[in-house]
Amino acid sequence: GSTAAPKTIRQVKLDKECEFRVEVSPDAPLRLRLLTGTAEIFGTEIPPEIWLTFPPRLKFAAFTWYGATIEVDGTTETDYIADETPMVSYVNVHAVLDARRNRAKASPGDSDASQGPRVIVVGPTDSGKSTLSRMLLSWAAKQGWKPTFVDLDIGQGSITIPGCIAATPIELPIDPVEGIPLDMPLVYFYGHTTPGVNVDLYKVLVKELAHILERQFAGNAESRAAGMVINTMGWIENIGYELLLHAIDTFNATVVLVLGQEKLCSMLKDVLKNKSNVDVVKLQKSGGVVSRNAKFRQKTRSHRIREYFYGLSNDLSPHSNVANFSDLCIYRIGGGPQAPRSALPIGAEPAADPTRLTPVNINRDLLHSVLAVSFAKEPDEIISSNVAGFIWITDIDFESKKITYLAPSAGSLPGKYLIQGSLIWYEP
Ligand code: ADP
Repeated sequence: GSTAAPKTIRQVKLDKECEFRVEVSPDAPLRLRLLTGTAEIFGTEIPPEIWLTFPPRLKFAAFTWYGATIEVDGTTETDYIADETPMVSYVNVHAVLDARRNRAKASPGDSDASQGPRVIVVGPTDSGKSTLSRMLLSWAAKQGWKPTFVDLDIGQGSITIPGCIAATPIELPIDPVEGIPLDMPLVYFYGHTTPGVNVDLYKVLVKELAHILERQFAGNAESRAAGMVINTMGWIENIGYELLLHAIDTFNATVVLVLGQEKLCSMLKDVLKNKSNVDVVKLQKSGGVVSRNAKFRQKTRSHRIREYFYGLSNDLSPHSNVANFSDLCIYRIGGGPQAPRSALPIGAEPAADPTRLTPVNINRDLLHSVLAVSFAKEPDEIISSNVAGFIWITDIDFESKKITYLAPSAGSLPGKYLIQGSLIWYEP
């Protein structure tokens, strides 16, 4: 009849080493399935026959090593087939890492030799860093390794909400739709989406994270041999560059993969030339990487927060809780009120301790803030503690002195101390 939907199913035939690049339309999901051959999405094999549903706006590629036919149902923003990809060079890197993992596994007991590769992926924004990290992790997991994924990208990280650095073991190839499973990530809350707000705090948190991972590796030969893949931020100039060097050093990276930037690569080669155990490798950026503008990034951040509370497809039911003002202990880190220059002796600089804790009185600015729930038992442990999760302030009643917040579940919070950064979220 006249109400029948237009037929939108079509087949796409891919020759060997080609990929089908897709940007899902902004307002409708896309369905895709593998009909013949084999294909993978960012390192994870597509199961045969089963329809997969990709949410609006997602950008991905289905790549085949030996040829495949896929079927898609729905409209896309753009889609095309590419026969030139850097995938062979990427999988060659994987092969080298795999050999190093095997060597590490064969040398138990020797503290140096038993350490698998510690890979750090660097490059400007939109060079494909997260995507390459994901492929290396999924290929490793497919072969039975359990590498640790470390995401230092506070702007567009893929482990938890923005403003955090985090780590999690990857035990299975990463699901192309669901992303990284959120079982038990180790999360540190920085609270801002750019590093410049408090560079020292960022460094302190990176050190804490590295320290905990080092301890975990010491007691777990399997994850030690599997090593880690560290994704970084797209800031590569000035402070960004300094923070890259800091991360390489702090995590004792042994392989630095540089995507899409000659200059960065030669600078890193130069500063690291005396470290014989560090390889700096330049890799080509994929032509499929999509540039995302500031607005899109902001949207993605907002979606990540929504996803934390409600799930990717509204499958979670967060709980609205009410607390008395006096029940919540909220702190800010650094940037507290400074002595004005005029109040200081001539020549003295106002010194704001970047890791100073300032208690926050309940005020209007907290409305719509996303706060982290610290595992700290005492306030002076807040800086060095990881966080259990997040809450979102939805209402503040100054008359009854009650505050309403959304949390992933009902009941008391997993910690007493809350941290406020600059993360604000307005439910779309
Ligand atoms: P970075 O981490 O360097 O900022 P990403 O890896 O996040 O870059 O890539 C940017 C965007 O491009 C992401 O949305 C990603 O899914 C998409 N993308 C990356 N590689 C491809 C590809 N080969 N085909 C289609 N989309 C891609």
